Amino acid sequence: MKTIEKVLIVGGGIGGQSAGIALRQIGIEVEIAEILPKFDVYGVGIIQQANALRALDALGVADEALRRGSPYPKVKMCTATGHQIAEAGTDPIGRFPSHNGISRRVLHDILLERSIELGVKYRLGLTVDSITDKEDGVDIVFSDGTTGSYDLLIGGDGINSKVRNLIFGESKPNYVGLSNWRYAFKRPKDLDTGYIYFGKKSKLGIIPMTEDSCYVFVVSAEGADNPFIKEDQMIPKLQSYMEEYPIPMIQELIDQVVDPKLVNYRPLETLNLPAPWHKGNVIIIGDAAHATIPQLGSGAALAIEDAVVLAEEIKKQDGAQAIFTRFMKRRYDRCKMVVESSEKLGEWELMEFSGQKLPENANIGATMGKTTGMLAQPI
Ligand SMILES: Cc1cc2nc3c(=O)[nH]c(=O)nc-3n(C[C@H](O)[C@H](O)[C@H](O)COP(=O)(O)OP(=O)(O)OC[C@H]3O[C@@H](n4cnc5c(N)ncnc54)[C@H](O)[C@@H]3O)c2cc1C
Repeated sequence: MKTIEKVLIVGGGIGGQSAGIALRQIGIEVEIAEILPKFDVYGVGIIQQANALRALDALGVADEALRRGSPYPKVKMCTATGHQIAEAGTDPIGRFPSHNGISRRVLHDILLERSIELGVKYRLGLTVDSITDKEDGVDIVFSDGTTGSYDLLIGGDGINSKVRNLIFGESKPNYVGLSNWRYAFKRPKDLDTGYIYFGKKSKLGIIPMTEDSCYVFVVSAEGADNPFIKEDQMIPKLQSYMEEYPIPMIQELIDQVVDPKLVNYRPLETLNLPAPWHKGNVIIIGDAAHATIPQLGSGAALAIEDAVVLAEEIKKQDGAQAIFTRFMKRRYDRCKMVVESSEKLGEWELMEFSGQKLPENANIGATMGKTTGMLAQPI
C-alpha cells in the first residue's frame, strides 16, 4: 500500500487552506492550485460558531481568530421591532464561545499566514485541466500546461467545483429563491452580541466583526428567476430593506450605505453531492461536496471540519480507500443534516416573505436547535 506523501489541493478558499494546514501538520507535502491570480477576499464578515473555533484550534489558529475577531454569546432572535423571541447558536464548547464574528479577509489572512509558515506551496492563477487517476496516485495537467503527479487530489474548489465535475460529471447548484445582501459598517455602540430580526419581506442580521466594526446581512426573495441586480440598484434596495426595521442601531446605519461596489449581493444556492464524495485517489470537500445556504451560519465550519477529519484519517496511512471510507462515515450525515435543515429554514423564510402561511409542523426554533446541538457534538 502506497504511503500518502504528496497531495494536491485544488482551491485556496477556507476549506482548501484548512486542508493544507492540517496536512502539513502531519508532515505531508502540499500544493494548492488556486484559480485566482491574486487572492481578493471581500471584506464583510463570517459567523463562526463554537464548532468552527474547535476545528480552527486543531489547525492552531483559533486563538488568533478570536483575537482578530469578535467573540459574542448566542444570537438574539427578534421581531422586526426588536422584541426578543429566542436565542440561537451552538452552546460554548470548552473555552470557545458560542460565536466569533470575523472579517472574511482577516480569516483568510490567518489561514494563509499559518499555511505559509508550515510550508504549503501555492500556485496561483491556474486550475486543473485533466486528472488521470491511477492505482497509486493522480497525474495532473494544469491549465498553464505544466504537469504534476500526486498521491491524492483534494477538490476544495467551491460550489461550482471543476474537480467534482471532472470526476463525477456535471452537477449544478440549486438556487433556493433567496438572496443575501451584506455590507460592513463601523460598529454601533449598542451592539453587544449578534442580532437577527425577522421582518415581513426580509430577515436582517447584525454581527460584530471586531471591537470597532460589524456587518449587516439581509436575506430577501428577489424572485424565482434569480434576476440580475444592476449596480445602481444596490444601495436603494439594501436601504429599503433596512428601513423595515425601526431599531435605532439599524436606522443609524442606513445612510452609511454609500458605496455600491461594497454591497455584496449573492443569490443563495445549495448542492448536496450524493455519497461517496471520492473516487480512486480523488476526494471532494467543503462547498464542492456540500454547499449550504447560510441560514445556520455553518458552511465554512463544515469545510474546516472536513479538513481536520481528513487529515486525522490520512495520518493512519492505511490506503486511500480505507481513509476515504472512514472520512465519509464521519462527515456525510453531519453535512447533509446542515444542508437539509438550512434548505428547510430557507423554504419557510421564502413562504413568509411571499405572504404564505407556514405549514403546521414548521418549527424554526426546533430545527435550528436540533442542528446546532448536533454541531456541538465531537467531529
Ligand atoms: C451569503 C453567504 C453567507 C455565508 N455565511 C457564512 C457564515 O456566516 N458562516 C459559515 O460558516 N459559512 C458561511 N457561508 C458559507 C461559506 O462561505 C462557505 O461554506 C465556505 O466559503 C466554503 O469554503 P470552500 O473552501 O469549500 O469554498 P470557497 O470558499 O468557495 O473556496 C473555493 C476556492 O476555490 C477557488 N476555485 C474555484 N474554482 C477553481 C478552480 N477551477 N481551480 C482552482 N481553484 C478554484 C476559488 O477561487 C476559492 O478560492 C456563507 C455563504 C454565503 C453564500
